[in-house]
Amino acid sequence: MRAAPGAMVVPVIHKDDLDLYRSSAASFGASSSLARPVFGGATRQASARLGLEALASQKSLPEIVLIHDAARLFVSDTLVERAITAAKTHGAAIPGVKLSDTIKEIDAEGFVTATPPRALFRAVQTPQAFRFDLILAAHRNAAAMGVLDLTDDATVAEWAGHRVHVFAGEDINMKVTTAEDLSVAEARLLRDLADIRTGQGYDVHAFGPGSHVWLGGVKIAHDHGLVGHSDADVLSHAITDALLGALAEGDIGSHFPPSDPQWRGAASRIFLAAAAAKVRARGGAISHIDATVVCERPKLGPHRDAIRASIANIVEVPVERVAIKATTSERLGFTGREEGIASLAIATIRLPL
Ligand code: MG
Repeated sequence: MRAAPGAMVVPVIHKDDLDLYRSSAASFGASSSLARPVFGGATRQASARLGLEALASQKSLPEIVLIHDAARLFVSDTLVERAITAAKTHGAAIPGVKLSDTIKEIDAEGFVTATPPRALFRAVQTPQAFRFDLILAAHRNAAAMGVLDLTDDATVAEWAGHRVHVFAGEDINMKVTTAEDLSVAEARLLRDLADIRTGQGYDVHAFGPGSHVWLGGVKIAHDHGLVGHSDADVLSHAITDALLGALAEGDIGSHFPPSDPQWRGAASRIFLAAAAAKVRARGGAISHIDATVVCERPKLGPHRDAIRASIANIVEVPVERVAIKATTSERLGFTGREEGIASLAIATIRLPL
């Protein structure tokens, strides 16, 4: 979910999830609207209150706050806009959808005792939207009175005596809580990323004096080095170009010109990570990377797993989505004469249609 201009997002997380949170947040790029995470409490009610207290400690207090469950990852911009409008109008408002299933009330033995008319009911979602002062006071009062078992913020507002308006939610705004929900969500995400593209990359660097080469971000001892403006990581360069090619966004030279002194001796993982970040910035995902290194020496077999793991780490995909192959050129040509190393790569990415 993107923050509206002037808005701030306060993430409330479990303290054990801090490393996971940091790595996830980093992959979305630095955002000035994302505040430092707040550690939650033992219940949803406590966690929401702690998030509100973090906002209350800001210099300028917000007029409206939306409290959202991150397990609802398909929340849309239009739903957020509806929530803000409803909170401004009503003070307390929540999204709700009509029920398609008939509802039965049952007794302890599992027998139906009543069939209420389903038109009277709504299944409610988040973001739940409030005037900030209203919901902060309601949460503070509930906590002070020892009322700690309210399961959503609307219930906190109701407990405090406020009328809560229900506006139209969205069926797609599902909550992902079970393994089955997760596979439904993944299928939907992949369906949305239907623009499948491939890009190719090719690079060569010559051998020169040195004691090691860099390949895929891994330092490999050798009786020569590779010559280049950066660290001459020929494999990372080929993969970077393949990703940029799949995006149709120029090549490594146009983004990181060799004429720019800041890239002298640079670690090529910077280029590779930047290309992967461009895919994510377009709302896309890297499906697969397949690369080949062509050289007589050094022998890459012993390093292959380390190189795969390194590239997967740099571009932030599972290692199963990275293939690294090595071949010689049967002593033919410049690679056969051990004048340098060549590398080829193909990247497959998925972008939103
Ligand atoms: Mg290069």
